[in-house]
Formats: sequence, C-alpha cells, structure tokens
Amino acid sequence: MPLTLPDPGRPARLAVAVAACAALCVVDRTAVAPLRAAPQTPGAASAGLEILDVRANVFVIVGAGANVGVQVGDDGVVVVDAGSAANAAAVVAAVKRITPKPIRYIIDTGPDADHVGGNEVLSKAGETFFPNTRIAGQQRDFMGPVAAILAFEGVLQRMSAASGSTPVYPTGGWPTETFHYARKYIYLNGEAIEVLHQPAAHTDSDVFVFFRRSDVVMAGDVLDTRQFPVIDVERGGSIQGEIAALNRLSELAIASVPIVSREAGTIVVPGHGRLYDQFDVIEYRDMVTIVRDRVRDLIAAGRSLDAVKAAAPAKGYAAATATRAGRGRRTGSSRPSTAAS
Ligand SMILES: [Zn+2]
Repeated sequence: MPLTLPDPGRPARLAVAVAACAALCVVDRTAVAPLRAAPQTPGAASAGLEILDVRANVFVIVGAGANVGVQVGDDGVVVVDAGSAANAAAVVAAVKRITPKPIRYIIDTGPDADHVGGNEVLSKAGETFFPNTRIAGQQRDFMGPVAAILAFEGVLQRMSAASGSTPVYPTGGWPTETFHYARKYIYLNGEAIEVLHQPAAHTDSDVFVFFRRSDVVMAGDVLDTRQFPVIDVERGGSIQGEIAALNRLSELAIASVPIVSREAGTIVVPGHGRLYDQFDVIEYRDMVTIVRDRVRDLIAAGRSLDAVKAAAPAKGYAAATATRAGRGRRTGSSRPSTAAS
C-alpha cells in the first residue's frame, strides 16, 4: 500500500501535514470508491463531472476538485466551494443543467486551490444582489454583475498574499464578504444557511456550511473520506483543532433514530469523497482521535519521529479507511449530465 501523500501540485509544505498522522497514515487510494455509486447513462458524463441529487434543493457536483455543493431556489443559486480553476467552466455548465437561475453566492469552505480556484469564473458567471458591493480599495466598477464570494477572512488573506510582485490569485476570485467570528449566516431560498468557522483544524480558515432545512452539512476539508485528514500546520491547522471540528460536526449531525433502518438523518458532504451520516462522522472522529492518542503516547515515551513511524500508530485503520470508503449512503439519485464530453 502506498503512503498517503498530498495531492500532486499541492505545496510541499503539506508534506509536513499532520505530524501526528500524515507520515503514518497508510491508505490504499486505489480502493477508494466514488461519493456514491450512481447509475450512469451511457455517454452522460461530461467533463468528468457528475451531479448528485442529494436532498430537497441541494445537489453536489463531483469531479471538479473538491465536492461542489449547489443549493437552488427562487433567490438563485448558492454554491459551496467552486472547485479547481481547470474545472470552473464545467462547473458553471453543470449548475446550468440543474437550474437556469443565476449563481448568487459562492461560499468557500477553506483556502485550498481545489476549493477556491474556480471562484472567479463562477462569480463572473453569476449575478450579485447588490450591484455596488466591492472590496475596499477596488475600483467602483470592479465587481460588475458578479456573484458574491463569502469566506472566513483567512481565505482572503491567503488569496491576496503576494507571490512575487502579484497576488497568489487574481482579484476577481477573492472573497467579497469575509468574517472573523464563529458564525456567519445568510437566509436564501427559504432556508437558513449557517457558515460555521472551525479554528485551527485542516487550516485556520475552515468553515462548515449547514443548510438547516435540507439538513445537509458541507464539511470541507475537515472531512476527507478518502483518507486521513490533512492537517496543514503551516497554515494554522492542528490535530487538536481537527478533532474539535469533527466533534462539532458529529454534534451538528442528527442520526435517524429511533427508526435506524431509514435512509434519513443529516447528510454530511465531505470536501472529498462520499456522503457521510452521523455514525460515519463519529467513526472517523474516533479513528483520528485514537491515532492521535497513540502518537502522543509514543512521544511521551521519548520515541524519535522515526521510531514513531516504525511503530505504525495508524495500524488497523488503513483497511478500515478502505472499507469506509466502500460503503455509502443510498439516498438521492444521480442526475445525468447532458453536455457533450
Ligand atoms: Zn480539498
């Protein structure tokens, strides 16, 4: 089994991610299943993207980098995570297949390129509610008729940070609305949408996006069902914060009780991988916690990093992770896409 490594193209700093985990975590990524096994109409796949009808007015576009959430209604479209820049046009096309309504909001769950890379293209494909909205310092006509981009303030700091003489991302992809407190909310399409900051988890700028009426939580990279979570220490992530965030997620989610045989309860959409329910989140949280405890005990016993690795503290979970990836919710259905591939 290969070691779990950061995605190709991610900064090398992620190689240090999860001192207590990444170097130790062995996951067979070839065993990873898609978000949910869904029937495919021959020739239906376009640009490798799949649209999942998750629940009520919430859909997930799969295959564009991060999982892309789409909430639709009379007010227009709220998108959670834009996917990567390379897939942005295909995501716009996929949204158009779900609804003719304009994109109004893009909410980023974190600062990674596979979540924010498509911001600019999706924003420009959308329409703002408030034509005069703009970031301080930008020209009055900068925004134009674009969709708002909402994120924790650290996402804006990372995207606007200088890389040489230019920012990491062009200004058109920067968040237009940021916040620095625990909970931001909006109310669109007849539904409360809570944006809940999770400090120091995958990074220092992660949020959950909770659609309260649909009872769907977009968890971002705090939850990656394909592998152990990546803790980006350089960007403010921590194993303690990760576990705290997973605890919060398991508290937000409600299981289907007492009738456990129903495919019901809160649906949790990870940043990558398949849909989870509350039991899955608790299991994942326990796994991360146990690996953390094992590493902590080894460190307390004075072991070197090499000795900690040799002790394989993630033992027993590599296979479990593969099994977990192979299960999946059976709710909802796949909506075949129709554009030419
Ligand atoms: Zn991601």
